[in-house]
Amino acid sequence: MRAAGTEVNILVRFEAVSKQYPDGTQALKNVSLSVPKGEFCVVLGPSGAGKSTLLRLLNGLTVPSAGQFYFAGEKVTRRNLRSVQKRVAMIHQSFDLVPRLPVISNVLSGMLPAISTPRALLRAFPAEMQQKACRLIDRVGLGEEHVYRRAGELSGGQQQRVGIARAFINDPLVVLADEPVASLDPKISRSILSLLKEASREQGATVLCSLHQIDLGREFADRVIGMHGGRVVFDGGVEELTDEVLSVIYDGSPTETEVPSGRPYSARELILAACNEGILT
Ligand code: ADP
Repeated sequence: MRAAGTEVNILVRFEAVSKQYPDGTQALKNVSLSVPKGEFCVVLGPSGAGKSTLLRLLNGLTVPSAGQFYFAGEKVTRRNLRSVQKRVAMIHQSFDLVPRLPVISNVLSGMLPAISTPRALLRAFPAEMQQKACRLIDRVGLGEEHVYRRAGELSGGQQQRVGIARAFINDPLVVLADEPVASLDPKISRSILSLLKEASREQGATVLCSLHQIDLGREFADRVIGMHGGRVVFDGGVEELTDEVLSVIYDGSPTETEVPSGRPYSARELILAACNEGILT
């Protein structure tokens, strides 16, 4: 059973956030969500549900059209967005490494939001940062022989280990992982998610990880956020993620997903509403 977040340990809070893209697509609809420090949240939902958009809001790659969000208790605005971005790291589905650069340079590139532009241009990373990068490369299970190998020569699983090392170099408070194992086989996927979970535990970082493999979601999540049609239709522990709840997340969801007070439906209420609307029989 996951611990409920108190006001004090809430790291990220979305308050009635909606996102409409310029072409009119309504990607998020009135999303309210609180994520405590150190939680491993798995975001599930069909393609187009709004999972990436939710993650992209957090690292400033997109901005809400309505509503607001809070980071470490502070409302995020244009003025403080950059300082929020420094505390948020991203792990990508396609690894997003520079293939011709060595592993260590790719890991150090995770420092770029935090170091000055001239230093970055000169690639002048202080010795202690280089040592930290080497420690992280070791931590993600890549031996010394990999430190100066070109990233492009590594296997997919090894590249994602580099992606994890890069994400943690700047001591992030939040790590966003957008389908981080979509292109990896099941065994390697499991080892990558274990590594991500252990590393985030060690550092006390919060993880928001979108996945399309439900079994992996069940195995690794402290909490599951189910999305459908831009709305959060389920928010609960793995033990509540029954087959019925999954079919509501993937196949369709009731027109309302919250009780009149604004509290999200519990799993039981969600199933009942889906039955009442003929979505589940
Ligand atoms: P998911 O990650 O769950 O697949 P997304 O957040 O990528 O969902 O997309 C949600 C909706 O927003 C989809 O209908 C998608 O086509 C649309 N969308 C995503 N990015 C853009 C964009 N830059 N411009 C217009 N529509 C977009």
